[in-house]
Formats: sequence, C-alpha cells, structure tokens
Amino acid sequence: MIRTMNLSKHFGELVVLKDITTQITKGEVISVIGPSGAGKSTFLRCLNLLETPTGGNVFIDDIPLLDKHTDVPKLRQRMGMVFQGFNLYSHLTALENLTIGPIKLLKKSRAEAEEKARGLLKLVGLAEKADSYPDELSGGQKQRVAIARCMAMDPEILLFDEPTSALDPTMVSEVLAVIRRLSREGMTMVIVTHEMEFARNTSTRVFYMDEGVIYEEGSPDQIFDNPQREKTKTFIHRIRSFERRIRSRDYDLYAIQGEMEAFCEKHMVARKVAGYVIHITEELLLLQKDFSNLSLELFWSEKEGTLELVCGSAGAGYNLLEDESEENALGIMLIKGRCSSAEYRYEDGRNILSLRLKDPAT
Ligand code: ADP
Ligand code: MG
Repeated sequence: MIRTMNLSKHFGELVVLKDITTQITKGEVISVIGPSGAGKSTFLRCLNLLETPTGGNVFIDDIPLLDKHTDVPKLRQRMGMVFQGFNLYSHLTALENLTIGPIKLLKKSRAEAEEKARGLLKLVGLAEKADSYPDELSGGQKQRVAIARCMAMDPEILLFDEPTSALDPTMVSEVLAVIRRLSREGMTMVIVTHEMEFARNTSTRVFYMDEGVIYEEGSPDQIFDNPQREKTKTFIHRIRSFERRIRSRDYDLYAIQGEMEAFCEKHMVARKVAGYVIHITEELLLLQKDFSNLSLELFWSEKEGTLELVCGSAGAGYNLLEDESEENALGIMLIKGRCSSAEYRYEDGRNILSLRLKDPAT
C-alpha cells in the first residue's frame, strides 16, 4: 500500500533519513519506536509529503508521490495524520470540526457529512459532545475528536505522531483505546509512540528507528523479547514506566513521591536507591526556575540494575547543576552526592538533565 524507495531527508548538513526502503501493507499496524531525534516524525511527515524528501520516492499503491504528473493533494487525502497537539478549529464545535473537511473538500452534502460525523463521534465515545467546543473538552477528548476528524475524510491509512505525549497520564488510555479499536476494524496505521506496552500489544510490526534508518524491524515479540542488534537492545531494556508532568509551582510533591515509590516497589528497585530518587526529586524541584512544563521520568533497567531520573524543563538554557549561587550550593551537593553520573543537554527548547542513581551496594 505504501512503499518507500531509498527515501532520504537532509536538513542542510544534517542527514536525518538515509535511504529508507520499506513497505507497509494494507491492514498492518506499525509502531515506530526509537530515541528522540532518530527521525521518526520526519519519516512520518515524508510519507505524506508534509516534508519534501531530499531523495528517493514514496509510492501509494505504486503511484509515485514525487512525480510532477501525480495529483498529490488527492493522494494525500488517502492518508490522515494525527499530531501530538490536536489542531482542532477552536471556533467550531466537535461536530463541525468533523464535517468541514468532507463538505469543503469531498463535496459531501451537509446532511451526509453530519450523519457520518455523528457515527464517528460515537465510535470514539463522544456522541454527547457533538455540540461542544474544543475548549470545553479535556485533552483526551480533544485528541479523540481529532482522530474522528481524520476518519471523516475516509482515509485508507492513518499516521499518528506521538498521539498521547501531550496528554496527562490519566487520559492516555482513552486515546489508546480508540486507536486499538480502529486497529481491530482493520485500519492501516503507522504510529510513532513511546507507549511500549501499547506498541507491543497492538501492532503487527514494530520499526525501531535509529541512525536515520529503520535499524531493526520485526514482530512485537521479536523486537521486545529478542532484539538482535545492540542499540535496539539498549533501547528496549531501558524501561520507561514512569512519567509525570508539572505545570505550575503548586505541584503536589507528596503525590509525586508516592508514585515514584510505588514505581520503585513494583520494579523491586533497592530500597536505598528508591529513597535517593525521592530525595533528589525534592531537591531538583526546589532548584527549578520554570514550572510551565516540567517533566520527571524514571527509567529502570532491570538488566543493568540502574535507575535513571530525567528531568526536562522549558525555558532558556540552564544547567542547574552549574548554578553557582550560594543558596543553591547545598541542594546541588546533595544531588551530586547521590548520582554516579549527570548529563545535561539543551534540546528542542528544553533543558534535559539525566541523573543516574548510585547504588550504595556497589
Ligand atoms: P524524532 O521524531 O525521532 O524525535 P525528528 O524527525 O523530529 O526526530 O527529528 C530528527 C532530527 O531532524 C533532529 O535532529 C531534528 O532536530 C532535525 N529536524 C527535524 N525537523 C527539522 C527542520 N524542519 N529543520 C531542521 N532540522 C530538523
Ligand atoms: Mg518526533
């Protein structure tokens, strides 16, 4: 159904995709996983020409997208894309968000478009919200409307770029449930995701992307239970099971620490290490400057027995561990004393601090 031939993409000097040749068959559900910056979004965007490939070609049912005789808008209509942010029209109701495309682009009658839209809102569990405006919906509901809106255009394939990563954890599952439902109905889908359990249970095939290529691919069992290549193994064994977002200074420290403790218990992390991470989290939060979009993640690698705490924050570049003001000195010393390594980088407008916890036993 979709085929890429030596697909490549450069941004100036930066080579993001290198000669990717692959195909996706009707009815397949492909999860695309891999570290951030691997080119997953770029790959997806090249599939529907939101990004123009530098080289190679993309074929939809053997029709080349990069050919001056091809009717690209028409081919593109066969692919729906769901983004991280929901991009709904805020001045239109949920129902109107679903009918505008079919009426304007597919030239459907209003009655026909509305009938189909109501059916789709029902499919995503939001029949009751037909007349609500996006502002009146939760993040999870908005994303479900966005999925229904894609479906309203009768696509043959749906592309998802991290559809749940902008959501609060409590809303992730309702969106994943809708995607799962579509997969049961035989929809062809390519889903870039960090939700490993979901990738494992829902997809027919998994692409692990790294170094600008599909570095390893296989069935979910192969990729998750028996990865063959070194980088895939490292990525898979780095279990990401805990993530928490903070959006204001009024965060609930006790709730966060409680959840971290539960996570550590579940994975049988040594008690002392668990204690350290809870303590460090408190210090880290005290040192933050920007609380508008803070993320805390824990990675536990069973294989290596290491726990990693990754803190991301918005705002200007600021490595808090290098803060030299006196009032912060003690906090920084406490953090450093409990970590075996600390790495800082600034990426996509975010400060990312990765701390590896010391195991006192070693
Ligand atoms: P992923 O989705 O796997 O995190 P992306 O496809 O977003 O990765 O990005 C891959 C690389 O390409 C990154 O280094 C990113 O900074 C770069 N990149 C993506 N889009 C652009 C762009 N429009 N201009 C320049 N560089 C870009
Ligand atoms: Mg991306």
